[in-house]
Amino acid sequence: GDIERKTLMAGKTEIGIISRKGVVDQGDYALAAAKDLLAYYNDYFGQPYPLPKMDMIAGPGSSQFFGAMQNWGAIFYFENELLFDPKRATESAKQRIYTVVAHEMAHQWFGDLVTMAWWDDLWLNEGFASWMEGKSSGVLVPAWKSEAAAVSGEREGAMGIDATSATHPIIRKVETVDQIGEAFDGITYSKGQAVIGMLESTLGPDVFRKGIRSYMAKYKYGNTVTEQLWAELSAAAGKPVAEIAHDFTLQGGVPLVTMTGATCNGGVTTATLTQGRFGLDAASKTPQTWHVPLVVGNLGGAQTATIVTGAAPSRVTIRGCGTVVLNRGKGSYTRVMYDDAGHAAIVRDYARLDLADRLGTLGDDFALAAGGYQDLSRYFAVMDKVGPDADPLEWSSVAGALGRITGLYDDTPLEAPLRARSVAILGPVLARIGFEAKPGESPLTSNLRETLVGRLGTNGDTGVADRARRYVAALATDPTAIPPAIRQPILSTYAVNATPAEWDALLALAKAEKSPVAKNRFVTLLGAARDPATAGRALALLKTDTISAPQKAGLLRAVAGAHPDLAFDWAVANRELVESFLEASTRSGYIVGLGAGSNDPAMPGKISAFADKYLPASSRGGVTRSLSTIAVRKAAADQLRPAVTKWVAG
Ligand SMILES: [Zn+2]
Repeated sequence: GDIERKTLMAGKTEIGIISRKGVVDQGDYALAAAKDLLAYYNDYFGQPYPLPKMDMIAGPGSSQFFGAMQNWGAIFYFENELLFDPKRATESAKQRIYTVVAHEMAHQWFGDLVTMAWWDDLWLNEGFASWMEGKSSGVLVPAWKSEAAAVSGEREGAMGIDATSATHPIIRKVETVDQIGEAFDGITYSKGQAVIGMLESTLGPDVFRKGIRSYMAKYKYGNTVTEQLWAELSAAAGKPVAEIAHDFTLQGGVPLVTMTGATCNGGVTTATLTQGRFGLDAASKTPQTWHVPLVVGNLGGAQTATIVTGAAPSRVTIRGCGTVVLNRGKGSYTRVMYDDAGHAAIVRDYARLDLADRLGTLGDDFALAAGGYQDLSRYFAVMDKVGPDADPLEWSSVAGALGRITGLYDDTPLEAPLRARSVAILGPVLARIGFEAKPGESPLTSNLRETLVGRLGTNGDTGVADRARRYVAALATDPTAIPPAIRQPILSTYAVNATPAEWDALLALAKAEKSPVAKNRFVTLLGAARDPATAGRALALLKTDTISAPQKAGLLRAVAGAHPDLAFDWAVANRELVESFLEASTRSGYIVGLGAGSNDPAMPGKISAFADKYLPASSRGGVTRSLSTIAVRKAAADQLRPAVTKWVAG
């Protein structure tokens, strides 16, 4: 027939890949990953996978809403999430496939074997499966340093939303279909992941796993609510976890723990800790407290585990003297801030911090500046300590921060100097690791190269942009002319800088492409151009039958990346056409989401007017999110402008 199936045995379970004819071998990577993961999960959950087979089905196409679905024993994936094409895919794409397989397989237990009773507890499925991505790959593929990577990845993503007025508790009432759609958000997935990770680090991995095993044993083939998980974890720990767990799941927001006055006398360090709520906008800067589990350590010395409670200052005592590190290991879901002396010590000893603490410090210091709690110069002082031999994850974090700073000032006089400064900082890093992959290099170095080529190419580095043009010209005679390790960022560079004539060449490549995965990527790239006239061509394409409905949804969202105002206005003017290519579950948030990247003061009014006219009151989650995103970015831009102006001049 038109499909193929390939299998291998993993213990008593037959694992299969089902795909279009001719590409089943691209499933080899996922198949091998699934075999390792199945053995790991059988042991971790203490309940062996109960079905005789587990198929993984690769479907062509894409969705605005999901990449995969954890049907028990027959997991569905879109091809790009499952099939690995070594001629075209980058290292990060491979990592992505592993991560998605790990996530969907975790759902065979958390989701399928035990199922949430109702959508209110969606986070139990998604938070746990997301956390398991890093937990399992941390053991099975240690070179990815997944747990440290989550500190600058998912943790930052969750806190970015959670520190704004658009946040919500992890557990909340779901009553309508639109609310189900809205529930699949960064709070459910990434904050859920971070809170699970915090409980594991607070209880210890063995105690935590014991609790999970008894939860699985007790509730298999049944439905649960979150309280039943807390009960099993409490029983395993021999102490209640509900105080901490409730504080982080029944109320939204990010705690901020501040240390002042650390002193060392007679070989013992004491300091004062206070807590409050960290906010990126005025509405979220309200008094609020948590039971915050916190590890406080001395560099090179002892550490102590405490729980910060209430609003009143408390004292913490640690054996030994030395630089004090708050939230050591960054296991807890909290921002931390130091007084001047404490921060100066962190900067001085930055290189001696563990990787998770270096990444967490970069994240905290940037966010604290954006929220107006401290000057951005503190972030730059830490960033200056990220040296030539720093971990690739640190440089990825720095590249991300430079991108965020630049994005705050798009279309303002600061944009050009910020782009130039980014190129000046990141160019030498790329020069050091080389433009092309070296045999045997660490996968994180490969990932960093992808990031740097993309950042430099889209920030006006002419060397990278010229290379991209040469590579793309070569595609006409050889579809694999671009080395796989840099294929995607090279194509992005070309697309961002494309002239209308170059856009036509890209369209020709998209039309000629046979692989559905590669074709979808080309179509998305057609929306990346910075030149408005070129972006207009992409919009015109939406009125033709050249591309499919899901491709149209992806293309318009891509146009909104560089041109949020243009994309939003176009979508409003062509509302019926746009809604015709959307899936029902994304309809309420899609058009208003297009404007979320706008720095135009008129955009919030336009979004509200659209919502009043077309969206029912129960479907305003996307509107709230978009308005909050705009307000938070404006607040950060105003807050940081003096420090940024000084920095680009310095
Ligand atoms: Zn999931």
